[in-house]
Amino acid sequence: MNPPLLSVRRLSIQYSVRQSGLFGRTRQLQAVDDVSFDLMPGETLGIVGETGCGKSSLGKGVLQLVRPSAGQVLWQGRDLCQLSPQQLKPFRKDLQIIFQDPLSSLNPRMTVGEIVGEPLELHAPELDTSGRERAVDAMLERVGLRAEMKRRYPNEFSGGQCQRISIARAMIMQPRVIVCDEPVSALDVSIQAQICNLLRELQRDTGVALLFISHDLSIVRYMSHRVMIMYLGRVMETAPREHFFGAARHPYSRALISAVPQPDPDQPTAGPVITLDGDLPSPLDPPSGCVFRTRCPHAIPLCAGQPPALESFGQDHEAACHRARELQ
Ligand code: SF4
Repeated sequence: MNPPLLSVRRLSIQYSVRQSGLFGRTRQLQAVDDVSFDLMPGETLGIVGETGCGKSSLGKGVLQLVRPSAGQVLWQGRDLCQLSPQQLKPFRKDLQIIFQDPLSSLNPRMTVGEIVGEPLELHAPELDTSGRERAVDAMLERVGLRAEMKRRYPNEFSGGQCQRISIARAMIMQPRVIVCDEPVSALDVSIQAQICNLLRELQRDTGVALLFISHDLSIVRYMSHRVMIMYLGRVMETAPREHFFGAARHPYSRALISAVPQPDPDQPTAGPVITLDGDLPSPLDPPSGCVFRTRCPHAIPLCAGQPPALESFGQDHEAACHRARELQ
């Protein structure tokens, strides 16, 4: 088996949150809690969970845009968490990010050509102006835009076109990993499909690995080779895509899968929709034991006292639930 491209080991991320009021105290919010995974070359790992479950923090922590409080991000034999901002610079060209809101992630004062070509100025100083222009033109064409669009500004483009510009900027240094942080959730459904297909084509052509963050399980199913489910900063379940959708063990995963709309209303559904009661608890005050227990239809007294560890179910499939062996 090939070695992983990127290994995340026991990563935790905390934020200091000051509570309101004159004498509001500062508390620690555990956004990511003890998360480990490997990312293989050319693979897409879909990271799924509700808003506030820590998936964006995890993506930013992997890229060191947010500094983890504990754990390791192993890349080419180095732990990125131990490197200074200066030491991280040479690694940046291989590790890129695409954000959710394409327009606000692009500098409105720069032309599209300047935006897409900026990484070349930083990481490919050997290229002269015409070399950079040729690379920008080719990249714009590759993502489905026209080269002459490089003279225009981001506010002259639609949301889908802005996301293509973001992808061109992320891809121009031929990175090995891209963190896609909800890259299509701000777009119309028809445009979502175009952007997803573009990312898949680019992955097929270049072998780039994707960390694909989304709250939409149907898009993750289309995009991912493996799926990781997060809840309140912790991993609930991880499995290869087909195994996950066919044999999920965790009650949270099962509820998410049951809520995925069926494309054909005449086809029988996989089963009844499992409705979760209540809202996501505050990450400032997570439940004791299993963090999912306040919404879990299968909770037992043990769940309140003891956090479940991730347990293997073979074939790269793990779930963190005391009752996972019963729930087949
Ligand atoms: S450990 Fe208990 S509360 Fe948590 S998911 Fe499993 S059954 Fe539900």
